[in-house]
Amino acid sequence: MTNREFPSRRAAIFADVPDEKWNDWRWQLSRRLNSVEEIEKVLPLTGSEKKALSTPGLFRVDVTPYFISLIDPDDPNDPIRRQIIPTADEILPFTGMMEDSLAEDRHSPVPGLVHRYPDRVLMLVTTQCASYCRYCTRSRIVGDPAANFSRSEFEAQVAYLEKTPQVRDVLLSGGDPLTIAPRQLEEILSRLRAIPHIEIIRIGSRVPVFMPQRVTEELTDMLQKYHPLWMNIHVNHPNEISRELAEACDRLTRAGIPLGNQSVLLAGVNDCAHIQRQLVQDLVRIRVRPYYLYQCDLVEGAGHFRTPVGKGVEIIEALRGHTSGYSVPTYVVDAPGGGGKIPVMPNYLISQSDHKVVLRNYEGYVTAYEEPITYQPHNPSTCPFCQNKKEEPGQRGIFGMLDGDEMFIKPEDFDLLHNRGGGQHRLRSDEQKWKPLGIGDGE
Ligand SMILES: *Cc1c(COP(=O)(O)O)cnc(C)c1O
Repeated sequence: MTNREFPSRRAAIFADVPDEKWNDWRWQLSRRLNSVEEIEKVLPLTGSEKKALSTPGLFRVDVTPYFISLIDPDDPNDPIRRQIIPTADEILPFTGMMEDSLAEDRHSPVPGLVHRYPDRVLMLVTTQCASYCRYCTRSRIVGDPAANFSRSEFEAQVAYLEKTPQVRDVLLSGGDPLTIAPRQLEEILSRLRAIPHIEIIRIGSRVPVFMPQRVTEELTDMLQKYHPLWMNIHVNHPNEISRELAEACDRLTRAGIPLGNQSVLLAGVNDCAHIQRQLVQDLVRIRVRPYYLYQCDLVEGAGHFRTPVGKGVEIIEALRGHTSGYSVPTYVVDAPGGGGKIPVMPNYLISQSDHKVVLRNYEGYVTAYEEPITYQPHNPSTCPFCQNKKEEPGQRGIFGMLDGDEMFIKPEDFDLLHNRGGGQHRLRSDEQKWKPLGIGDGE
């Protein structure tokens, strides 16, 4: 049996476009479709789509000729169509809806730089994309052609990074970093590389998916000067994996850039274990490692794409053990309010005693693992890595309770509430209210 080939498609209206144009990313960008009239030449629009497309203030619409060609024009529920062509459902509010659901703006020390985790930052370098995903988590800033990051904001981002030595990983995103002018992108990369404590640079981009023509040899030659460089792409459905995408990924991996994929779990697009299995298997065939599967954020306009969290758990249940471990992403809920990504998965640990754990596998086979009773605990006092730990005190988290001597983490008003009696359990100082206490700190 031979491997199924990945298709290459062009919508009928582009049949006569010469190959030099079709394969030129500048042509793809300049011929993007965004109006009822243009889109209707490729696919007959439904009433709901027409209504959305003529709604003032709708999140920006734009689709490359290449990407719209992957849609089956006769299927109003086509999974690519649903990601990129708006429907009237976008206008509906829902419970929990927010504009900035991940509170990114609150975690930004300077505009466009989100510093949420101890050792890495998200750096937004543009508000522009090659096409616009209807469920965009940053629709509050993305797409506006008049609003982009300025030179002085870029300088402020670089200045913050220079004076923040705990940042060892910078993740370029936006918008889409691969839509900016090549020289400008190179300037960003070289400025970051000039900062000694920045160990790795990552690019998050959907350009290889929307416009694989952009991934030229010239681009990969430029990128590989800035190693170690990693890239995450964004594919949600197996229909997005074309011959052109496979070739673009091949150019990137040959340039030494490891590729990952970040998908979003979307109702009516990929909320099916069988679709997901095909997707992740096709991704590893083109040497893209599934990285994250995201629960859809509580963002305005995306309510109709949301699924219950249980759908994501079900998908992981259908993948882990059933297919190559390389194909299994981590399913995460990006915490509303800015808590970061929280992994969610089925339970494999069934029970425990002082010397055994009972585990189950993907088939439901249940096994007992006998634990050692003579384990010599690791000795931090002789371990150079333990001696040299450099974590910010406030971010040691649950691990701080295991590794250090923090005994509890409590909500901010916990002590006020539980100090009802007044008297003997009164706190020693105001400051102590919010600080996790160590052993011996108690009254
Ligand atoms: C997702 C994200 C990162 C990177 O997270 P990883 O789990 O390391 O991939 C960093 N900063 C912010 C704000 C993010 O949202």
